[in-house]
Amino acid sequence: MNIALIAHDRKKDEMVNFVIAYEPVFEQGHQLFATGTTGTRIMENTKLRVHRFMSGPLGGDQQIGAMVAANEMDLIIFLRDPLMAQPHEPDITALLRLCDVQGIPVATNVATAEILVKALYRGDFAWRELVHKYKPGIEE
Ligand code: PGA
Repeated sequence: MNIALIAHDRKKDEMVNFVIAYEPVFEQGHQLFATGTTGTRIMENTKLRVHRFMSGPLGGDQQIGAMVAANEMDLIIFLRDPLMAQPHEPDITALLRLCDVQGIPVATNVATAEILVKALYRGDFAWRELVHKYKPGIEE
């Protein structure tokens, strides 16, 4: 599965702790993607390899959004900061909109993220493999 991890600055510690807690699930043959700083923090604190896009405010959310638009992203954990205005708010809105367009599972807080990762572990998102199968050029 292609999984995107994004955390706003005041949520980065929470994201790192979350990924540490579920590292055994994330390392089970999944491809991890992240915005720049989030990806760096995850790689500094785990053994996971993460493909890092640009930092969110510089276009990272849009890069992940491009994968969503192409139906190439299978699951997104996006720990947003609900108490702080973001300069790239339009990009965030666009990313979440595209998730709804494609029906991509997306968690915006750690409680939901936990449910999605447990579902991932159980294989509940195996149906996404079918999407990949019918999209030539997308590797698992
Ligand atoms: P960052 O981007 O991981 O590069 O900090 C996240 C964001 O702020 O959208």
